Amino acid sequence: MSGFVDKLERHAMVKNTNGSSSIVIVCEHASSDIPASFNSLGVSKEVRKSHAAWDPGALAVSIRLSEQLDAALIAGAVSRLVYDCNRPPDAPDAMPSKSEIFDIPGNAHLSQSERDSRVKTFYRPFQLAVRRLMERVNDPILVTVHSFTPVYHGKKRSVEIGILHDKDARFADAMLETANDHTNAIVRRNKPYGPEDGVTHTLKEHGINGGYYNVMLEIRNDLIKTTQQQDSMAKVIAGWIVDTCMALKVSGSIQCQE
Ligand SMILES: [Zn+2]
Repeated sequence: MSGFVDKLERHAMVKNTNGSSSIVIVCEHASSDIPASFNSLGVSKEVRKSHAAWDPGALAVSIRLSEQLDAALIAGAVSRLVYDCNRPPDAPDAMPSKSEIFDIPGNAHLSQSERDSRVKTFYRPFQLAVRRLMERVNDPILVTVHSFTPVYHGKKRSVEIGILHDKDARFADAMLETANDHTNAIVRRNKPYGPEDGVTHTLKEHGINGGYYNVMLEIRNDLIKTTQQQDSMAKVIAGWIVDTCMALKVSGSIQCQE
């Protein structure tokens, strides 16, 4: 993926920082990489490649969205099993010892200093980098991009695109209102997760606290497996975001690039 990004650091990949759009795209779970010093956290290759370790397809869609909207993009550079950058340090699943049905032995007995070290190495610099990107533009609009597994704890999920929000639902409401104009997919509010699951950390930190429009997108990962699917999903979402900005009468330069 490094060919797609402008800057690759230990904690984050950044692209198109000088984009003309007010949109800032954040993809916290972009990477399945577990640095060698963590000895794979004791998990199998199968788990390391699964949704437990990252959000398959989310980075590819984020990159295409960034191109379509000429928007800055920041993406996490390590697996959420090492540190989940969409969780505060005191969240139990910031460094999970279990993810869905998988045990993560390398996280089972972490000392406070091991926890602190991961916070310092991955979480804090990521937060700072997101803040810097948000500060670049006047009235930024925060869009976070995620994917979810079609089967969770053995249960099939029917929702295809989730539009998630916390206390500030303005952008989500406007997107939900025009969903049918943009996609035939099954679109739901705060599904398959919602604020009660602790998934709105980035929205709160970087959107709500500053009073900026914000939304979290969850896309079922079987819909963004191939390059073609990723391209067309990004196109759909880009057009949807542009329309949403128009509906909210957001000023600034937001348009779709062909
Ligand atoms: Zn995610």
